[in-house]
Amino acid sequence: MPEAPDNGVTATDYALTDKNKKALEFIEDVTSRPDQVQKQILTEILTQNATVEYLHRHGLSGHTDRETFKKLVPVVTYEDLHNDITRIANGDKSAILSSHPISEFLTSSGTSGGERKLMPTIDAELGRRSLLYSLLMPVMNQFVPGLDKGKGMYFLFIKSEAKTPGGLLARPVLTSYYKSSHFKERPYDPYTNYTSPNETILCPDSYQSMYSQMLCGLYLNKEVLRVGAVFASGFIRAIRFLEKHWSLLSRDIRTGSLNPVVTDPSVRESVMKMLKPDPNLADFIELECSKKSWQGIITRLWPNTKYVDVIVTGSMAQYIPTLDYYSNGLPLVCTMYASSECYFGVNLNPLCSPSEVAYTIIPTMAYFEFLPVHRTASGATIESEKGNSQLVDLADVKLGQEYELVVTTYAGLYRYRVGDILKVVGFKNKAPQFSFICRKNVALSIDSDKTDEVELHKAVENAVNHLVPFSATLTEYTSYADTTTIPGHYVIFWEVNESGSTPIPAWVFEDCCLTIEESLNSVYRQGRASDKSIGALEIKVVENGTFDKLMDFAISLGASINQYKTPRCVKYKPIVELLNAKVVSSYFSPKCPKWFPGHKQWTG
Ligand code: AMP
Repeated sequence: MPEAPDNGVTATDYALTDKNKKALEFIEDVTSRPDQVQKQILTEILTQNATVEYLHRHGLSGHTDRETFKKLVPVVTYEDLHNDITRIANGDKSAILSSHPISEFLTSSGTSGGERKLMPTIDAELGRRSLLYSLLMPVMNQFVPGLDKGKGMYFLFIKSEAKTPGGLLARPVLTSYYKSSHFKERPYDPYTNYTSPNETILCPDSYQSMYSQMLCGLYLNKEVLRVGAVFASGFIRAIRFLEKHWSLLSRDIRTGSLNPVVTDPSVRESVMKMLKPDPNLADFIELECSKKSWQGIITRLWPNTKYVDVIVTGSMAQYIPTLDYYSNGLPLVCTMYASSECYFGVNLNPLCSPSEVAYTIIPTMAYFEFLPVHRTASGATIESEKGNSQLVDLADVKLGQEYELVVTTYAGLYRYRVGDILKVVGFKNKAPQFSFICRKNVALSIDSDKTDEVELHKAVENAVNHLVPFSATLTEYTSYADTTTIPGHYVIFWEVNESGSTPIPAWVFEDCCLTIEESLNSVYRQGRASDKSIGALEIKVVENGTFDKLMDFAISLGASINQYKTPRCVKYKPIVELLNAKVVSSYFSPKCPKWFPGHKQWTG
């Protein structure tokens, strides 16, 4: 028998070190030969799916080489796949996209026709997602050692699921992952040792889930070494929840009992298993939470926390100041980049500042291609005129160039445009590293909602009908994602021309707010009505002439007077301030818009 290590290092420590080493070696290996790996992955995907209808339709007839694939298979968007996806959703079990049975649909937060996109997936993809997760902590451990000696306080949630007419589940990718055995039955691992028992994460009631997760996080406060949620918006919501409920939570800790608002039996059982009365901790929580300032509340309540693990790239960057405030400037760590279509990559330098985050795409996850794009000063993307022939492989992207990501997955997406714009900012060995620039065409986003200008415009047009009886018209409008409120909310600035004799009553503007909300996509309405991750939409009526002033201001900043168009969304702080200074009245949506799980056409 090998001798027991005498330096306090246990067998578990050795096993962990070995696991970490293997994960890092894997990254070294695949990033050293990305082209070879990508070629192999494409061959594997095309061999596995050689007989599927989709590839047959495009004349691939069993070819598995890159050249033939690129020549014959078109680059597509979701709309191009709509018919195939509808057939699968309606129960057609033939091998349309994948030779493996479609196990479920993952409902993307990207929408088509106002409804979430349905991404087909197969069982084997769960393994690939788990692999990407397994790389995160070995990477992190290089920068912050000792994380295996405590817990992570992560606020993780499931969302509602629906069934397609053909009986397949349709649910978000994380709901699918948390409900899978990969997560629920994970063997003990110090890196997935969370303060939240599985039952609290898997509780379908979001209030009970949040309450119990926060309670456990507070109760185990000294053990917590890292805190987080998937997106920054979710973590801030958790802090807001604490602001509202700390006295109830501390009462539970004082008495060692769980508030009866938590009724879910499995949640109660799992929490009660750990909770014992701790009056000292309750005193401490009350003392800290009742202080007027909540600056640094994270480091105060969870004093051993080393970093905040949340995505703050892309539209989530708007939350950085709030997170800095609550965390007293702890590192904000963005570990990974993923989607319903496919998990893409990891951040190999996780302690870098949010503006420097670069994701290294892991070449085994799928076959990746890149469509070069150029952006105008306003941020709109312009594709190269040469179109699809310009697509380049992972190993051929150029430093400094921006691209739209295109994926070919094991689950049956072929040359599918993800809609994300990435920029090459460096290399890990021979593999490129990308900063996330933006999601194409997204004007407004608070949480996972993504509203584009066209959709916003249609929604505003619908609302303007309420002004007709008052002989009023909308002169101009623009919008803004206000994240100073928690949760954040959409603000629409309206300049109204009132020529009628009766002033417009407040309830009319409130109806306008609701009409806009009712007209927006299902992800937005779910965020409002079910997840409560988005606050009530607000219309701010501005003085007449405000939009002329906005134009003058833009021109003073260098915009061309001939080409000036009112921006339909504003982010630049001085412009938002200009608009806010001209507000004469403001109105909120009086209730939540309607939302039902599943697609409109399934619910009748
Ligand atoms: P979904 O399709 O709902 O799973 O959302 C996936 C999308 O979220 C991606 O295509 C990105 O637009 C966005 N996203 C995911 N991870 C990140 C990240 N690390 N940084 C910025 N945006 C991200």
